[in-house]
Amino acid sequence: MTSPALPDHSPRPLAPSTVAVTAGRPPRVPGGPVNPPLVLSSTYVSQGEPPAGDLLYARMGTETWSPFEEALAALEGATLPGLVLGSGLAAIAAVFAQVPDDGAIVLPRHTYQAALGLADELAARHGVRVVRVDVEDTDAVVAALDEASAGGVRGLLWLESPTNPMLEVADVPVLVEAARARGFLTAVDNTFATPLGQNPLAWGADAVVHSVTKYLAGHSDVVLGAVVTDDPELRAALHSYRTQHGAIAGPSEVWLALRGLRTLALRVERSQATAALLAERLATHPAVAQVRHPSLPDDPGHARATRLMRGYGSILGLRPAGGREAADALVAAVRLWVPATSLGGVESSLERRRRFATESPTVPEDLLRLSVGIEDPEDLWADLDQALRSLG
Ligand code: PLP
Repeated sequence: MTSPALPDHSPRPLAPSTVAVTAGRPPRVPGGPVNPPLVLSSTYVSQGEPPAGDLLYARMGTETWSPFEEALAALEGATLPGLVLGSGLAAIAAVFAQVPDDGAIVLPRHTYQAALGLADELAARHGVRVVRVDVEDTDAVVAALDEASAGGVRGLLWLESPTNPMLEVADVPVLVEAARARGFLTAVDNTFATPLGQNPLAWGADAVVHSVTKYLAGHSDVVLGAVVTDDPELRAALHSYRTQHGAIAGPSEVWLALRGLRTLALRVERSQATAALLAERLATHPAVAQVRHPSLPDDPGHARATRLMRGYGSILGLRPAGGREAADALVAAVRLWVPATSLGGVESSLERRRRFATESPTVPEDLLRLSVGIEDPEDLWADLDQALRSLG
């Protein structure tokens, strides 16, 4: 048992940055640990029919998962504990599995590419209709929902906002309402925004998914995913998916993720402030053709992000002048930024997304995705600037 995120004596609701520190702690007892223990046990003492005790076998649940699951739920504003899974993609698969055969999935054309691949597999093997939409265009998404739900077809509206890697911002509350009115389940991948940036459950979404690998864990040392929902039936179905498919997390990874979560607010505050600073400077750099970050006043997502989000996130889209060759040369020329896939770690990294054959063909060949970390902003700028100048 862990203590609640909001101590009884709290004179006011705790801020999310405090919840990230306080949630999922063991009860305060003299001599007790401040942190939940890491328990390495695949099975638990049990006998009898039905078996007595909360814990039976570690594929079904462990005491090391629960504190993280409670903390994430508290951050997303859910009353039911979250569900941690072996990766963000496993969490996405658990949600997609709720779509009936011959149902439909409406999703952004620039959603995380492996989610697109998974949706296509459901289309090929289960007859699920997959409709890719431009999430910036609210009317077009509603029209797609109209068409996909015609005749009472059931399905899922899957959202990512901002999108990976194009940084498009969706009008999530409006789209969630439209989908629910048509009987569609709604789920939002909240990896880029983090629970500090937005809480889609408060907008009526049925579920929120995270690649915990990224900001929540924050140190590029674990692969992990999670789903949070306040719907008991949906939670039971997702729980059953996790157990039956064995899509589980190792206890060590979850323990590390909770440790990382404690500093989420500091990391996000720092990295998104630096991202906005770099975006502003890059926007006027002579070697840059285009930069995307919702903080920029002329970015297509700026007004929506200002209205809906707390902060603009720490991912930048950058297209250097000179096309794909210039983009590859920039990745080769940086010294501090790490050329690597993934994002959301303390270290800044970058990559050209179309180097993956699976990336959506509507993503420009020369688009670099930059994940801004927590290094000194001027060091990050100096390195980018020297690399851009070296392009000649
Ligand atoms: N969602 C987003 C937005 C991602 O960027 C990623 C991974 O890059 C995933 C989900 C998948 O997460 P994981 O790599 O933890 O399986």
